Amino acid sequence: MVEALENNILVPQGLIAHGRGECFDYLIGEKTQDFAENAINAAAATLLLAKYPVISVNGNMAALVAKDIVELSNEVNCKIEINLFYRDEKRVKAIKKALENAGAKEVLGDDDLTTIPELFSERRKVSKNGIYIADVVLLGLEDGDRTEALVRLNKKVIAIDLNPLSRTSMTASITIVDNITRALPLLVKKVKELRSKDRIELVEIVKNFDNKRNLAEAIKFISRRLEALSEDLIGH
Ligand code: ATP
Repeated sequence: MVEALENNILVPQGLIAHGRGECFDYLIGEKTQDFAENAINAAAATLLLAKYPVISVNGNMAALVAKDIVELSNEVNCKIEINLFYRDEKRVKAIKKALENAGAKEVLGDDDLTTIPELFSERRKVSKNGIYIADVVLLGLEDGDRTEALVRLNKKVIAIDLNPLSRTSMTASITIVDNITRALPLLVKKVKELRSKDRIELVEIVKNFDNKRNLAEAIKFISRRLEALSEDLIGH
């Protein structure tokens, strides 16, 4: 991450967000738990059913999982778009280069932009051939305002966020509460596994997934885990 900061891929605020994530990773035991597996299953089915899926990439994602982003985009034939909270052209270029070095052939987000309503930061700028027309948007380490705006625009949002209490987690259509470094490779694997299923089965998987219930499982897991750890400490 420090290297990404030096290479202009990340801004200092990205390091703070990363630290917040690490804290929640501790709380879930630094492992992909059942609630994350369930969300990954629903996310893979959603991506396979999507008409025009787009992966929204920021500096943290490019620094951590550039190769997996490219692999996922090849597997589900979806676009990759750079979308930054702290947008500046030098950073967009650096991130584009990192994605291209990881094998990306097409990266959107540096030109042909339009704006999405109800957002006032730089992230309201989206690609006309990307997020603007997408039916499904996959994002990670995103802030709540933007997630809410995308959901209001009737996009299905798949979020990867270690914090089950964040506004992004609460408003996304599918929230994968896991570290993006573990979740994205598992998502690629799941897409490969589900590819042979017929549409009806995929629709069934999506229908059976309840995001609020799944988030509640994540919160309950953390709470039970902390209770067990504290009891271990005092020998109960
Ligand atoms: P919100 O606006 O949604 O309430 P926030 O203000 O924390 O949340 P950001 O700082 O933009 O929003 O989001 C960063 C999010 O990414 C945090 O919830 C953090 O827990 C999460 N995060 C950080 N690192 C990782 C990681 N490696 N994998 C998954 N999620 C991560």
